[in-house]
Amino acid sequence: MAVENVLKLAQENNIEWFDFRFVDLSGRAHHISLPASEVDEDTFLNGVAFDGSSIPGFRGIEESDMVMMPDPESVFIDAFTAHPTLNIMCNIFTPDGERYERDPRGIAEKAEEYLQTSGVGTAAFFAPESEFFIFDDVRYQSDVNVSSYSVDSNEAFWNTNRKEDGGNLGFKIRKKGGYVPVAPVDSQQDIRSEMCRLLEEAGLRIERHHHEVATAGQAEINFRFDTLKLTADNLMKYKYIVHNTAQQYGKTATFMPKPLFGDNGSGMHVHQSIFDGDTPLFYEKGAYANLSEMALHYLGGILYHAPALIALTNPSTNSFKRLVPGYEAPVNLVFSKGNRSAAVRIPIASVTPKGCRIEFRTPDSTANPYLAFSAMLMAGLDGIKKKMDPRELGYGPFDKNIYELPEEDKVGIRSVPASLEEALDELEKDFDFLLEGDVFTADFIQNYISFKRAEAKDVAIRVHPHEFSLYYDC
Ligand code: GLN
Ligand code: MG
Ligand code: MG
Ligand code: MG
Repeated sequence: MAVENVLKLAQENNIEWFDFRFVDLSGRAHHISLPASEVDEDTFLNGVAFDGSSIPGFRGIEESDMVMMPDPESVFIDAFTAHPTLNIMCNIFTPDGERYERDPRGIAEKAEEYLQTSGVGTAAFFAPESEFFIFDDVRYQSDVNVSSYSVDSNEAFWNTNRKEDGGNLGFKIRKKGGYVPVAPVDSQQDIRSEMCRLLEEAGLRIERHHHEVATAGQAEINFRFDTLKLTADNLMKYKYIVHNTAQQYGKTATFMPKPLFGDNGSGMHVHQSIFDGDTPLFYEKGAYANLSEMALHYLGGILYHAPALIALTNPSTNSFKRLVPGYEAPVNLVFSKGNRSAAVRIPIASVTPKGCRIEFRTPDSTANPYLAFSAMLMAGLDGIKKKMDPRELGYGPFDKNIYELPEEDKVGIRSVPASLEEALDELEKDFDFLLEGDVFTADFIQNYISFKRAEAKDVAIRVHPHEFSLYYDC
């Protein structure tokens, strides 16, 4: 949308506030609002100043003065403000007018530029399936004291949300059983539909919503694929709208990968393909899963770099509590059609040329989407450049359920890293593929690794409630 159209849209909707947003290293949005009377064409030319030194992960920069440059492509009207507000995603620049090298959205733009100069294709398409839980907001429950940190309050919190181990003990509807049951077992139809309505208003094209596999309150909404940066923008809108709709219903939504021990976690499977103009490049009729050589090399690159890549696609300590056998989250670095225990799956939709794609199932929504999509594209492009054949590299295809294979048949199958620290160790060893075309810089990677190591350490030094059951009576 051209700037004059943004200003016209604002006028037509009696917009009082322009809300300028940018995304930090961890994928969280930050914002500064300007009254509509202060915003004109010049605001889009000169940007909006802010203090970069107060943003986690942006520390260490010489100048704290940074500038947000609004991207008129990304506007949407905020559905949650009492005062009409227009939200605009921004890129971050230094006061000298240089792209800030730690700006995730700037990295996404550079990744798209790199694809275009690589000669591989003109556009990469991404479609994330970002799962989440909707829980009762414990702030409104008088019997749970979440403000004090004690074993009791933690246990109470977990019991509130946990699946019942002892069956149905009263006159009540079971929380959920089996996959996608109708109401009243699924009690979240309306809240998901409302989320979808607001997502459509914000410009996303909704394809479906459903209750997910976990026992209670797990949801998934699918929206239509788009190019890399626009899909990351859409995911930012998605999370904002999911969180705030839940809040309006007196609930909370969480994208945390594994909130409940012993039940399915929340993933963010990412579907990916490359086109040259209108021509899909991942399709070859009659080949294994109709995948072209290019698609095979792309997924070869993803699997080859996966241990390092996971530091960006699964960047939380909690991510690795999801990546365990038995819950439809992948553990094995193999590819397959259909098989949900494989890290890369070729969905059934790949029977048509345009629908042909690969699905990387490892990521979760704690990923910063700009960084994660860019890093996946870079891994895939490296695979294409180096013709990494996943069959020769020992990544399958593997069409059996690997969770259930006897140990001797699992020999040679590689697994995902077991912890955030391990993934960061892998990234430290393998990040050259991210530096191609200056998409990521070495400074960015080093800063990212220390930022995330500090987070892992913060968790490691804290006492865990389960330690009380293991060790209290020693
Ligand atoms: N929740 C699963 C995961 O963690 C996926 C389940 C599904 O989409 N079938 O990836
Ligand atoms: Mg799905
Ligand atoms: Mg799902
Ligand atoms: Mg999926």
